[in-house]
Amino acid sequence: MVIRLLAIFLILSSCHNNVDSRKIPDIHIKILPLGKVKESYIKEAYDNIQKISAHAELLPGIEIPAMAFYAPRNRYRADSLIRWMSRQGKANEIYVGITMQDISTTKGEYADYGVMGLGYCPGKACVVSSYRLKDKQHFYKLVIHELGHNMGLQHCPVSTCYMRDAKGGDPTGEEKAFCEKCTAYLQKKGWKL
Ligand SMILES: [Zn+2]
Ligand SMILES: [Zn+2]
Repeated sequence: MVIRLLAIFLILSSCHNNVDSRKIPDIHIKILPLGKVKESYIKEAYDNIQKISAHAELLPGIEIPAMAFYAPRNRYRADSLIRWMSRQGKANEIYVGITMQDISTTKGEYADYGVMGLGYCPGKACVVSSYRLKDKQHFYKLVIHELGHNMGLQHCPVSTCYMRDAKGGDPTGEEKAFCEKCTAYLQKKGWKL
């Protein structure tokens, strides 16, 4: 009987351990200003990331890596920037590059297509630019959107959701919050929403 109780206890405790090991890893989100960036954008990005994560860090700004420069359009390749940033961090780190420069990527038939942001889905890096944003007070929504991609969220059909597809425009004025479905997904990933 003692042996059986011990066996049950061991099973219970191993289950408990399993639950512990499945705990969400703490994702550290590092904000990296690229080139000259207005203080208000940096603050907005930092404040809003602090709301969703206990591990937000603001890094000292750097010049935009010259290898990302795309001379024919006088702008920077977002895909090169996120590739470079994703190599900087450890496994539990996400780099959020913020810039005021125009950024672009290859999209379908377009070899160089201007974007407001780009992030791996899922992955360890994203970059956002204020350049194409109509109303600059919505800057943080770009940051949150790309971070959502980093956590594995695809675009969302809800028109007021932060994860809505910009489709070449700027819908940030209509975006109010994450929809219920996106909120539930991110909460499971450890976001404070
Ligand atoms: Zn997107
Ligand atoms: Zn949504």
